[in-house]
Amino acid sequence: AVQMPAVPGNLSKSDAYHEAARGIIPGGVNSNVRLGGWPLCFESARGPILVDLDGNEYVDYALGMGPAILGHAPSDLIAAVQASLSSGQLFAGQHRSELDLARLLQRYIPSAELVRIGMTGSEMVQAALRVARAFTGKNGFIKFEGQYHGWFDNVLVNLTGTPGNGVVPLPVRLQTKGQAEAGTADTHILPWNDLDVVERYLADRGDQVAALITEPVMCNTGVIPPRPGYLEGLRSVCDKHKVVFIFDEVITGFRLGLGGAQGKFGVTPDLSTFAKAFGGGFPLAALAGRREIMSLFASGEVNHSGTYNSNLVSIVAGIATLEQLAANDGEVYRRIDGNGIALIEGMREIAQRRSVNLQVSGYGAVFHTYFADDLEIVDYASHWRADATRQAAFVDALLPLGIRPTRRGTWFVSGAHGSSEIDRTLSAVDEVLRNGLN
Ligand code: PLP
Repeated sequence: AVQMPAVPGNLSKSDAYHEAARGIIPGGVNSNVRLGGWPLCFESARGPILVDLDGNEYVDYALGMGPAILGHAPSDLIAAVQASLSSGQLFAGQHRSELDLARLLQRYIPSAELVRIGMTGSEMVQAALRVARAFTGKNGFIKFEGQYHGWFDNVLVNLTGTPGNGVVPLPVRLQTKGQAEAGTADTHILPWNDLDVVERYLADRGDQVAALITEPVMCNTGVIPPRPGYLEGLRSVCDKHKVVFIFDEVITGFRLGLGGAQGKFGVTPDLSTFAKAFGGGFPLAALAGRREIMSLFASGEVNHSGTYNSNLVSIVAGIATLEQLAANDGEVYRRIDGNGIALIEGMREIAQRRSVNLQVSGYGAVFHTYFADDLEIVDYASHWRADATRQAAFVDALLPLGIRPTRRGTWFVSGAHGSSEIDRTLSAVDEVLRNGLN
């Protein structure tokens, strides 16, 4: 029999925390993504396990929404950060470790001729769009339905719509009250995974489009792989119309392998953005790309700045994370893949045995669970034809059994997950599907 973790029964300390927090922090949370769902407050985390204030344990597949690729509090990473602390925090100047990190990025990221380091994915995306405008002398950019590139006005468009069983959301341009409408004027929104649409659009309006930004694997609406040839097709249509081709690798970077999605698919973007797994859980991001574009930062023609960019802790964390990821010829990735694929195959087997229409799409390192019969999910519209109510019920039923995927049903696997976590998780999935979802 598989040993299950302590089952959350008592959440009284988490409840008391949220009661107090709501009185002083809007919504009791510091990122709107965390609104709603189970009001948990966490005490600590180690490896693949999170512990809440009441002492309940959860096998964590949210991993801080992706970053903790080595698991929580991995000893080598924490030791490297601890050792750096007595050397200072930040210098408003350079230190040697910046160059060490830049060299690692250049070594592992196929398109990285030059790199700039920052703190978050959101701001690296803005730097990419800005330098693309400067390089091309054009203003517009293409982003795709259902993809997320951070919370700033120009990219926070056409993400959520009104999801619901079989109801395809209408294109929603503004996603939040207070969003500057003028800020979205240069944003061209197209459906993803359909090359014809992009070819036709650029044939018509290529002279207005400076950049095309895409998650190479759509990871913010399900986990949807690109159709064969799609990324290659985007590459050539961007070349044809002198459009800067940007991969947003904030999720895929250092998760799908050391070379990210560009390494996996063998398609080279002009620019790419990295965050999340790259810092192992510390705030760290990067923009990498072609020398002739990135050089515009060197001349000062294009501004990119930030007080905390390349602070010592973040840089040291990045170096330690990349060293761990590269160790033993990428052994961590083989472990992540093996465990992730065991989860995916295990879930598919349970679904079949219990005659439940649970589907899994994606990769060992990041995958998505959804409920649908005979539905090929290729883009944002098809994603919302799956049963969103059952998806939410599935996640809600797993949590009391000590299993925590992200609320939207995306699962991140770390190097710290092992066979005992996989077994626990599959028993919980079996229990939930046996009891039925309503
Ligand atoms: N781009 C992608 C693909 C993301 O998934 C995210 C965050 O989830 C971002 C950009 C924004 O990154 P950050 O939250 O670090 O600002």
